[in-house]
Amino acid sequence: MDIIPDKIPFVQNIPSSWYHHKVERVDILRLDVLHHHVSGNKWYKLKWNIEHALANDKDTVLTFGGAYSNHLAATAAMMNIAGLRSVGMVKGLYARDKLTPTLNFCLEQGMELKFLSNEEYSKKDDRQWLAVLQEQHPACYIVPEGGGNHLGLKGAEEIASLIPSGYTHIAVSVGTGTTLAGISNGLGHSANMLGFAPMKGGRYMEAIIKEHVTGTQHIEIVDEYHFGGFGKTTDILINFMNDFYALTTIPLDIVYTGKMMYGIMDRIQSGYFDAGSRILCIHTGGLQGNGSVENRLIY
Ligand SMILES: *Cc1c(COP(=O)(O)O)cnc(C)c1O
Repeated sequence: MDIIPDKIPFVQNIPSSWYHHKVERVDILRLDVLHHHVSGNKWYKLKWNIEHALANDKDTVLTFGGAYSNHLAATAAMMNIAGLRSVGMVKGLYARDKLTPTLNFCLEQGMELKFLSNEEYSKKDDRQWLAVLQEQHPACYIVPEGGGNHLGLKGAEEIASLIPSGYTHIAVSVGTGTTLAGISNGLGHSANMLGFAPMKGGRYMEAIIKEHVTGTQHIEIVDEYHFGGFGKTTDILINFMNDFYALTTIPLDIVYTGKMMYGIMDRIQSGYFDAGSRILCIHTGGLQGNGSVENRLIY
């Protein structure tokens, strides 16, 4: 399946005034520039899944996500471009006239939305429940929440080819951890992988991620920069993102990359990194998720 990217991702240097020369360099891999509707890591996690659907004569991809989900938005857009149908199973019984900007976007892209109670949604990974769902929708190829299956992992490995060698640390936000695991598997050299969890208590993911990792990278999940929990934000985070944009012209998102960059800054200031550290942060995209705070951001 051919989707033409808006721009090829590139590595951008962050001015040293941001890190007060406490480390050697901080760069950011701009996956956010890939496509105006299918940003960042979702492009990589979905591409092989869509290939698989096509190869198996499925004309519909069915997947799962919350009302602000970047994965649902990206799936809706990518399937629309591919000329295929998509079904989004949404967590929560939203009224049709009270949808979030993300869900309205999904509808505009032609996605069919089905609303599940939290209880029903919690079965999303239950094999038996999925088997029944598959029977009911024979033309659907079912992709798990966040695109976190082996084809998502395979796609995420390709991100590693965009990473030049020589970095001591690679930082990435984690949801399912598929992106981090894929990059780690695809990396031809060793670096410390730092995964920033955007939710409370995300450290548990360290063990799950390590199950999918084949390489030798040291992996650490950092969960102290959740700002109140998944999808939660504070004035401190918003101000930080505005300051960061003013200095770099790089827009961050409130759910994932804003929290990661704040964490990087905080850890640089507290002396976690050696002076010789060369840090690459992955900008995984997700800017559509800023819809709810648009009027508080300067971009
Ligand atoms: C989905 C998403 C992530 C998390 O990716 P995983 O592969 O699920 O860990 C990180 N950043 C952004 C911007 C995302 O949209």
